[in-house]
Amino acid sequence: MKFCSSCLRPVQEKDRKAIDIIKKEYLKDDCPWFLGYSGGKDSSALLKLVIIALNELNSYHKEITVIYCDTGVENPIITEYVYETIEGLKSECFNLGLPIRYEIAVPKLEDRFFVKVIGRGYPTPTNIFRWCTDKLRINPVKQIIDEHPKATVLLGIRKGESEQRDRTISKHAKTEYYLSQSGSSKNQIFSPIINHNLKDVWSTIKFNSFPNSLDSQKLGEIYKDAGSECPVYREVPGKSCGSSRFGCWTCTVVRKDKSISNMIENGYYELKELHEFRNWISKFRDNPEFRCGRRRNGQKGLGPLTLKGRKIILEKLLETELKSDMKLINEEELIRIKELWNEDINNPKYVENN
Ligand code: SF4
Repeated sequence: MKFCSSCLRPVQEKDRKAIDIIKKEYLKDDCPWFLGYSGGKDSSALLKLVIIALNELNSYHKEITVIYCDTGVENPIITEYVYETIEGLKSECFNLGLPIRYEIAVPKLEDRFFVKVIGRGYPTPTNIFRWCTDKLRINPVKQIIDEHPKATVLLGIRKGESEQRDRTISKHAKTEYYLSQSGSSKNQIFSPIINHNLKDVWSTIKFNSFPNSLDSQKLGEIYKDAGSECPVYREVPGKSCGSSRFGCWTCTVVRKDKSISNMIENGYYELKELHEFRNWISKFRDNPEFRCGRRRNGQKGLGPLTLKGRKIILEKLLETELKSDMKLINEEELIRIKELWNEDINNPKYVENN
């Protein structure tokens, strides 16, 4: 069954242009397409336009893979919304015979947030020591894309979001809708909504009633007072995702997590325990009593969290799990954490004092 495109509300001019360019680019070559979806407004608008564009074509010669990265420490309210949305989209695309598949990327066990912090003793991330974004978000997505020698990566990048981003766009733009990725990758980045402003993006989500599963009302509710989206593909070096609604609930890169506190104020009371844990752990990292006196490379200075410190964090996390009635860490991670503790206990080079 084909969806009747005349049922759509008239698309705004920028959407029409984007849909036409998506169709043209899709037909151009056999290069596989990957779309980075975070659940946020920009990637939702992009996905909506891609689905509409594909639905206007008569035949398909390649699949599009939509990738969502589940770090394991995503804001649980958002995760629930995203998984529901993906299930809805899957069935809509299936019913229309569209060649779109959905893949969930997850970080390697070794790179998961709590394995790093509680297992290896990494202090929680800050702007200066932001070890998290590559390990939790960029690498899992990259791993899927890198299985292909050359790919096109569709991202919801827009002009006017930041001066740094605009500079990168003008440096790399090959055409009105393109960005070539800086660095050694052979992949090209395709940004069909690059000329959309914030208002356009919300219009795209709201006034294109198809696909139904991308619910503008629900997304609007989640976005009340929200910031930017967390990147899943490195197109601008060093971009922070710490203030985003679509980020980790454990994020200590931002000094205050206004995103979660606003959500609690807006009635998501179930996040209260998580928010308290996050505030507690962001102070705990700086307590010298729970930090080794040497780094892992043997140099003097604030080193990893001590074994005692890591055990305290685990106890607090399990307590938070009980109080919030939410699953915050899984069995596999717990086993790996205990193994890493044993490795440190038996490692003569691991020094807690001096
Ligand atoms: S949300 Fe925060 S903790 Fe998560 S990857 Fe982004 S900067 Fe790191």
